[in-house]
Amino acid sequence: CGIVGYIGHREAYPIVIKGLQRLEYRGYDSAGVMIYDGNDIVVSKTKGKVVDLEQKSAAANMSGTIGIGHTRWATHGVPNDVNSHPHVSNSGDLVIIHNGIIENYAPLKEELIKRGYVFHSDTDTEVLVNLIEEVQKKEKLKLGKAVQVALNQVVGAYAIAVFDKKNPNEIVAARLGSPLAIGIGEGEYFIASDASPFIEYTSNAVYLEDGEMANIRLHKQMKVRKIKDDSLVDPYIQELKM
Ligand code: GLU
Repeated sequence: CGIVGYIGHREAYPIVIKGLQRLEYRGYDSAGVMIYDGNDIVVSKTKGKVVDLEQKSAAANMSGTIGIGHTRWATHGVPNDVNSHPHVSNSGDLVIIHNGIIENYAPLKEELIKRGYVFHSDTDTEVLVNLIEEVQKKEKLKLGKAVQVALNQVVGAYAIAVFDKKNPNEIVAARLGSPLAIGIGEGEYFIASDASPFIEYTSNAVYLEDGEMANIRLHKQMKVRKIKDDSLVDPYIQELKM
C-alpha cells in the first residue's frame, strides 16, 4: 500500500501514476487517483493494478496541477472498485487517501449515520473523511483544524492526505504508524510513503514523525504541528542523495 500527492505547477496525474508504480513493491490490491482540474475533482479508482487504473482513467480528463493517489491493501471491506481510495465525503467537497486502520470506525460510523451521513463503501476510511466533514461543518473549521480535531477522536494507524475542494490550494497530511515523506520543491510539494516518487524533482524532504500533521499550501511555507496539542514543530529538512 502507498500514497502519493502533488501540489504545484506541473501536471499532477503523470507524477502520481509514476509514483504509485514506484510504490508497487509495498503490495496492494486496488489503486485510485483524484485530480483537481481547477474547478472540480475527478476521481478514478479500481480493483487491480496501477496499469488497470491507467486504462480506466484513459478516457477521463485527468489534467490538473493538484492530485493524490493511493494503492490499497484492504483491511475493512473487500477489494473492489467502491472500496478503493480516494474516498469522497457526503458533500462531495473532501477527498481522502489513507493507509492504515481506523480501529474505532464502528461507533463513529453509527454516530455519523444518526446525523444523516450515508456510506457507499465498507471501509473505515470513508468514516474518517465524513468525520472530518462533520467536524468542519459543526465547528466551522478550516480543513487543517478539522482534520486535527477528527484525528484526536480516532484510534488507529494512518498516513493520510486530505483535499478540500472549497479551499483548493492546500493538502493536509498526517501520520501515525505509517510512513509519510514530503518533498519540497520550488513552488511545489510532493507527498509520498517514501521519497522514491519525487526523488528526481527535489532533494529536500521532510519525514513526518508519528503524531505529526502538515498543512501544505501552494506558495506558502509548510506548517508542521503535533496532532495532539497543536504545538508547532520545526521540521528537519533532509537532503536526499540521488
Ligand atoms: N483501512 C483502509 C482500507 O481498508 C486502508 C487500507 C490500506 O492501508 O491501504 O481501505
